[in-house]
Amino acid sequence: MSQPSVSADTCKLWIDNREVDALSGETFVTMNPATGAPLATLPRARREDVDAAVASSVRAFPGWARLDPNERARILWKAGELVMSKLEELARLEALDTGKPIAAARLIDVPRTADTFFYFSGWATKIGGETIPVRGPFLNYTVREPLGVVGAIIPWNFPLLLAARKIAPALAVGNTVVIKPPEEASLATLLLAKLLAEAGLPEGVLNVVTGYGEEAGAALVEHPSVAKISFTGGTETGRLIMRAAAGTLKRVSLELGGKSPNIVFADADVPLAASAAVSAAFYNQGELCTAGSRLLVERAVHDQVLDVVRAGAAALVPGDPLDPKTQMGPLVSADHRDKVLGYVRSGESEGAKREAGHPRPQGEAGYFVNPTVFSGVEERMTVAREEIFGPVLSVIPFDGLEEAARIASATEFGLAAGVWTRDIGKAHALAARLRAGTVWINTYNRFDAASPYGGYKQSGFGRENGRAVLDELTQLKSVWVSLS
Ligand code: NAD
Repeated sequence: MSQPSVSADTCKLWIDNREVDALSGETFVTMNPATGAPLATLPRARREDVDAAVASSVRAFPGWARLDPNERARILWKAGELVMSKLEELARLEALDTGKPIAAARLIDVPRTADTFFYFSGWATKIGGETIPVRGPFLNYTVREPLGVVGAIIPWNFPLLLAARKIAPALAVGNTVVIKPPEEASLATLLLAKLLAEAGLPEGVLNVVTGYGEEAGAALVEHPSVAKISFTGGTETGRLIMRAAAGTLKRVSLELGGKSPNIVFADADVPLAASAAVSAAFYNQGELCTAGSRLLVERAVHDQVLDVVRAGAAALVPGDPLDPKTQMGPLVSADHRDKVLGYVRSGESEGAKREAGHPRPQGEAGYFVNPTVFSGVEERMTVAREEIFGPVLSVIPFDGLEEAARIASATEFGLAAGVWTRDIGKAHALAARLRAGTVWINTYNRFDAASPYGGYKQSGFGRENGRAVLDELTQLKSVWVSLS
């Protein structure tokens, strides 16, 4: 049997475990962010293709939902093993498609994808209900049942890992899935679907439709046979999706943007906190929803931290994502680069001081942006308020816990926060006050398939990972039995 692989020239939709073209025959082209040259040609799915994918997942649902959970567990575990067996190819596709350094894709994206399948494989056999003491001669018990077809929509910053986060738990509890990968970067999701088929996933249990958000994505959201939309992406898109989902009253979970505060107190291990602040802000080119993009520093150590951050940013020179030594790649698209550079200009024009980061040479083909650090940032400034989703860090001084808590909360977002202090009481007191879905103390950007993850406020609702996501992917039935 031939080995599953994905070629950038011959990408297809994945429906019923088969490669198919869009019904219209239309395609679209994605770019290599490192060179600006065309990378892949993909089918442009529209409503009729989404209809075909959803119909396939509807057909597959009863068989998959009733399958022995041990068998579902076995397939998911096998999928994790196959992901690891394809580490190199998946890492390369992810680096080519998104611009992220291949070293990071090898170390994080692919192994964490496999972990997600291993972790949720274990849950397939552990979804139980309760027996409930009720009044009268009755046995009352609950069962957790799958929802049906789950529509998954993901962004371009971690397409493979985010696809796994949506697919693995949904399948573990007996749902079927139609996933729409991001139009910028679909290749690794297509290969993942083939690996799941090789692991034994029956046809129709997972379908992949490539295409644009406002076409394929919107059709998935509006589809009457889709029971739930699990979305990760921008806050504005989240609002659109919630409105569109109202028409069919489907469930929605939204993992949205962030503007996360990373708070360094003077009593912290300051050198450690300062060097961690560099990766908190610039990991994955800053294209990370939890990026510590607001660095709040207690005034007594402000200059010391700024020195480390300035030097750290200057040392991070973006380069070829396929070079294993590269620590930072280009941004995902020309449009996104221009948007990020617009924020850099706004920081300058609104009076912040640019400490690091400088314009790249004119005429450069790839979408590179040097890591940029602003000091003297005030809360009113655009760079302090809006999600930039690129390598731009705002350093903001504060005095004492009260002011740190106030500045940290002065944002519409609530995805994550970091706290650096050796005072354990202060750390926990602040963790309790921060309105964020994740708080890291003396560390940053830690994730695990077992640990629930999601937003407060405009960063969305619903949780991914851990036991928490299983409740969102099942519904509860209460059964009464007369004992008289
Ligand atoms: P985006 O919202 O533009 O797109 C995300 C996905 O939604 C894409 O697949 C896109 O095609 C689709 N889409 C767009 N319009 C749609 C519509 N009308 N109906 C249905 N689908 C539609 O976001 P992006 O630019 O790809 O990603 C960046 C954003 O994602 C940032 O705001 C970032 O914070 C967020 N993000 C959040 C998390 C998290 O876990 N909270 C993780 C990663 C990224």
